[in-house]
Amino acid sequence: MRIGVIAIQGDVGEHVIALEKTLAERREKGAVVKIKHRGLVKSCDAIVIPGGESTTIGRLMEREGILPEIKEAAGEEKPILGTCAGMVLLAKEGDEEVAKTGQPLLGLMDVKVKRNAFGRQRESFEVLLKLSIFDEPFHAVFIRAPSIIQTAENVEVLATFNGHIVAAKQRNMLALSFHPELTEDRRIHHYFLNLGK
Ligand code: GLN
Repeated sequence: MRIGVIAIQGDVGEHVIALEKTLAERREKGAVVKIKHRGLVKSCDAIVIPGGESTTIGRLMEREGILPEIKEAAGEEKPILGTCAGMVLLAKEGDEEVAKTGQPLLGLMDVKVKRNAFGRQRESFEVLLKLSIFDEPFHAVFIRAPSIIQTAENVEVLATFNGHIVAAKQRNMLALSFHPELTEDRRIHHYFLNLGK
């Protein structure tokens, strides 16, 4: 399995390491490739859009011509994971902050997102989060995190925190407000890679 990590800006290295560990745990042959330019997405079986600055990542993906490639991959039912800024980019609609910046979105998930949803007082925090897909809670790290404020019926909410939707799934796509690549728990990465099966 070949997994592509959009490597334009943000916590790319952490995702690469987490995915390499996940592949090793699955005893699956594979590779993790960093995607900076067009032409590589097609060769991947799964795509990760990391956290960082969604405005920067979105604009550079647009300039590089990567946005249509990811849309095509999503249409082919390849697993797509967006964490934090990646969640914003997967969304169909954003809040007023998104509208103000005019940042490009992929628009693949039928959700509306709010950037920096937890406010300045709580820029970063960690919680033990209950996700509907696991029995045991998940240690979730939030960093200037967005949340989902509206979902269509075809979107499955996997977790909420303080009334905010912080994890959701639509078909082969997974959007998380937090950063599973920053902890040693690989359950979400395994779950993500299984979405293609
Ligand atoms: N607030 C950032 C954004 O909307 C996301 C923060 C992050 O990815 N850690 O771009």
